[in-house]
Parts: sequence; structure tokens; C-alpha cells
Amino acid sequence: MNNPDQSPAWTAQLRDVADFPKPGIVFKDINPLLAHPQARAQALQTLIAPWQQIAPQAVLGVEARGFILGSAMALQMDLPFVPVRKHGKLPGPVVSEHYALEYGSDCIQMQADALPAGTRVLIVDDVLATGGTLAAAVALARQLQLEVVGGAVLIELAALAGRLRWPGDVPLHASLVV
Ligand code: AMP
Repeated sequence: MNNPDQSPAWTAQLRDVADFPKPGIVFKDINPLLAHPQARAQALQTLIAPWQQIAPQAVLGVEARGFILGSAMALQMDLPFVPVRKHGKLPGPVVSEHYALEYGSDCIQMQADALPAGTRVLIVDDVLATGGTLAAAVALARQLQLEVVGGAVLIELAALAGRLRWPGDVPLHASLVV
């Protein structure tokens, strides 16, 4: 029988992959979590719970794993979901931000007409590493005069101090800090 009390805590469904995608990187693989409905539901609750009072009006998910987590959150929170995509994927007028990654560099974009100016947005990604990606997402949202009211990640890699690059006056929630 399927007894939820005996299901493992959601963090047990995370997998560390050494030396991926480059030597020296310990990749946090969330795919086992995504494949485990009970653990996934637990994880989703930890991502959603902090935002009831803050009441964001839209969720911005960062490509690609931020799409999976962010769209699941937006569905449960009954909010619009807006993708923050890698360069060259979005049609129409876009705004862009270039940033450095833990491994490499990149550029993210949003459609300029995605949300009205002043919309209260929550930015979502799977992992906070050096913080460059989330900082770029904040800058992108602010280019469009969106109000960033929060950030949510499943895993924060504390040793990389990415939190220091997040605006100090905006709440940033990590479901698991390692
Ligand atoms: P950063 O900009 O350095 O904070 O990197 C965050 C982005 O890179 C997120 O979109 C993550 O999906 C990805 N990322 C960085 N480091 C890791 C890691 N160790 N494991 C999994 N994903 C990572």
C-alpha cells in the first residue's frame, strides 16, 4: 500500500553528480525528485509556502529547470507564468541581460510585453550557485519595471555565496541550503 507517512523526505530524491558538466562541478540533479510524485509535492509545498503574505502576481521561471518548478508553482498559486529564456528563443521585442555562470556564461531574455509594469513578480530557479543567473533575472524584470517581490530556489549552494548578489531588501527563499 502507498503510505505517504513512509515516503522519503523530498531531499532524499536529489542526486549529486560529480564532475558534471565539467570537472570539479558537483551537479545537483533534480530529475529523481521530478519523477517521484510524493516527494515532488512536498518540495513544491516548501517552495510555495513562504509567499502567501507577500502575494506575488506572477511567477517568472528561469530556463530550463525554473520552467518546471516555476510553472508547477504558478499552477498551484493560480498565477500567470512567464518564461525567462536563453538568448534567441523568444519571438518579438525582448529585453536581454548577460551574466556569468558557475560554469560558463550566458544571456537571458524576456518578452517586453510579458507583463504590465508594476506587476509583483516572484523569480524561480532550481539552484542558486554564484547568483549570476538570479541577479540577471532581477535586472531583466526591472528593465520592464516589474516589482521583484521574491526569489525562490529549491537548493542554495551556500559556499558560493550567491545570495550576496540578490537584492538585500527582497526575500530570497531556499528550500534546502547545502
Ligand atoms: P548561478 O548563476 O551560478 O547561480 O547558477 C545557477 C544556474 O545554473 C541555475 O539555473 C542552475 O540550474 C545552474 N547550476 C549552477 N550550478 C549548478 C549545480 N551545481 N547543479 C545544478 N545546477 C547548477
